[in-house]
Amino acid sequence: MSLGIYIQVPFCQTKCTYCNFHTGVVSSSRFAPYATAVQTEIREHRARLAQAGISLSDSFEKLAVDTVYFGGGTPSLLDPAHLQAMLDAIRETFSPQFREVTLEADPETVEPAKAEAWAAAGINRISFGVQSFSDVELKAAGRMHRRGDVYRAVPILHAAGIHNISFDLIAGLPHQTPESWRNSLDELIQLAPQHVSIYLLEVDEGSHLGSEILRGGAKYSATAVPSDDAMAESYDLARTTLAASGYLHYEISNFAKPGFASEHNRKYWRRAPYLGFGAGAHSFSGSQRWANHHDAAAYVQVIAAGKIPTEQLEMISPPQALEEELFLGLRQLAGIDLQVLQQTYGVSLADRFTPLESSGLVERAGNVVRLAADRLSISNAVFVELMR
Ligand code: SF4
Repeated sequence: MSLGIYIQVPFCQTKCTYCNFHTGVVSSSRFAPYATAVQTEIREHRARLAQAGISLSDSFEKLAVDTVYFGGGTPSLLDPAHLQAMLDAIRETFSPQFREVTLEADPETVEPAKAEAWAAAGINRISFGVQSFSDVELKAAGRMHRRGDVYRAVPILHAAGIHNISFDLIAGLPHQTPESWRNSLDELIQLAPQHVSIYLLEVDEGSHLGSEILRGGAKYSATAVPSDDAMAESYDLARTTLAASGYLHYEISNFAKPGFASEHNRKYWRRAPYLGFGAGAHSFSGSQRWANHHDAAAYVQVIAAGKIPTEQLEMISPPQALEEELFLGLRQLAGIDLQVLQQTYGVSLADRFTPLESSGLVERAGNVVRLAADRLSISNAVFVELMR
């Protein structure tokens, strides 16, 4: 077993209309104190977690850290020296055997000197929030970059020696049409990233666009959002187009060229341990889950005051662990092995899946159950049925 480390950088240049993350647009003068606080949290995590009633065993602390993920927000906004310092704090605190070190980046933030510094720091994977190749859609969504920035950024990364690149696209952005979506997929395939994430637009109160749609307003191009059916068709088109271009579909939202599935994100779905540092970061030890304060300013103050930033702590009971195995396991296209779960948790699950199998929501081959390929776009409905 190995350990993953996630570092949350909750700062962005603007707020995208569809974004429901806890991120803020702040002065760049706040970046350095934040990076310093994260280093302190990393170096002193054991003592501070103990204050919160979370004790990590010696064997846990000795686990090799093989994946690191800088997520956000827009971590590529930080000075590369800050990223390097956070990685050095990990190297000096844990047992580093870095295999995959990912930085989420916005395409317009990529410059040759930065990319070279990222590579020198040990970053070997870039995850781009591309979202669309249509400037009309990007503008309406409040994105800072335009299509041309993606074409400019990719060769810069290659020149710096970073060849493991992931693109995110969002199905359901305002003004998206079947033609513009097909074009975005075509352009993506031309650029040949090693990994692709396809997300469906989330409509909830947490984003400007989502709350506008829910109250029936027209701001943020809310009336130009494709229907749910159109979004599902876009997802299915992505699935078939990417498969035809050599991408393996390994998780509901994720596709990879062989050998390029995200090792870090796989830890989440496989319930492997990970530690999160920074405001709003989540952690999982195998038996406990906890999360830090969302507010970045409060996080920096709490760390400076020598306290713990942890605000939620949950012991995971065996029944909860089983529910997690089902929910997270089914997100992976490989599915779940009922026999393994039965041996681990001492409960038979076969009957639970029979109605879902009869209604075509899941497929079963021997002991392995997986979501039916043509129902992946309604996976949430399948999970609701399963948890009844
Ligand atoms: S760049 Fe990402 S995290 Fe930042 S506002 Fe846009 S969607 Fe949200």
